[in-house]
Amino acid sequence: MAPQLLSSRNFKSLFDSVDTFLFDCDGVIWKGEKLIDGVAQTLDLIRSKGKNVVFVTNNSVKSRRQYAEKFRSLGVPSVTQDEIFSSSFAAAMYLKVNNFHKDKKVYVIGGEGILEELQIAGFTGLGGPEDGEKRAQWKSNSLFEHDKSVGAVVVGLDPNINYYKLQYGTLCVRENPGCLFIATNRDAVGHMTDLQEWPGAGCMVAAMCGSTEREPIVVGKPSTFMMDFLLQKFGTETSRMCMVGDRLDTDILFGQNAGCKTLLVLTGVTSESNLLKEGNEIEPDYYTSTVSDMMKLMES
Ligand code: PLP
Ligand code: CA
Repeated sequence: MAPQLLSSRNFKSLFDSVDTFLFDCDGVIWKGEKLIDGVAQTLDLIRSKGKNVVFVTNNSVKSRRQYAEKFRSLGVPSVTQDEIFSSSFAAAMYLKVNNFHKDKKVYVIGGEGILEELQIAGFTGLGGPEDGEKRAQWKSNSLFEHDKSVGAVVVGLDPNINYYKLQYGTLCVRENPGCLFIATNRDAVGHMTDLQEWPGAGCMVAAMCGSTEREPIVVGKPSTFMMDFLLQKFGTETSRMCMVGDRLDTDILFGQNAGCKTLLVLTGVTSESNLLKEGNEIEPDYYTSTVSDMMKLMES
């Protein structure tokens, strides 16, 4: 069915049928470092009606602690770490639920956020931003060495990706068929600022796919891996959840894959004309201009 424009009528039945709103972050809550207008008031109003709010972001650069800090610095101090589900956290949780042995190490092509979440979960991470200064040098008389106790490689957005890191991660995966290859997400682009798009983790993951000839386990949206944690925490059925996002192939697909209701906002990467064009395979249940329309409809 074609997406329905949110109206006071369909919003009421949507709102009444939902206990938990899952918000994507970039393009819905903020754009880069800029808060989207009306977000703080809208979240307060939704909470005041007894609903849960949760934040699900594919951006792996920060940990949940750092995201809570970002919410505070943008003027939304009510958001706690427990309400944030980032793909950096999902990568650490994937290892945990799959009983990854604590004696093994995890090589990270990505940011501090992944290393912090690994550490909190009790795992030893290697690589990360520190390896940004290293250079891969091939010599006819010595091998490029890597730690043979690495049992997983996690790849996320890494603005300092280089040939050293690719060689390190590739050797870990190619020389050990049991080594896990985990991608935090495969977003094509991301917003470092609200001005323009930049290459996202998808291109780092693609580089590793090329050299390892393996496909990764993706833990971020649209994979529903994070949904089990959300359900444990909020105890509702997925049919009583609504995913609010700006991207069809991550947020809306994630919501649909999990059996949630879906609402697309037009403040991010999807324009109204792209949403309504013929032949879209992924369509939200509802769409509206911006998240603060929810506040206006609650008050109307
Ligand atoms: N990955 C990176 C590097 C990003 O910069 C962004 C958005 O800016 C995303 C992923 C997507 O994040 P979200 O899931 O919050 O839209
Ligand atoms: Ca988004």
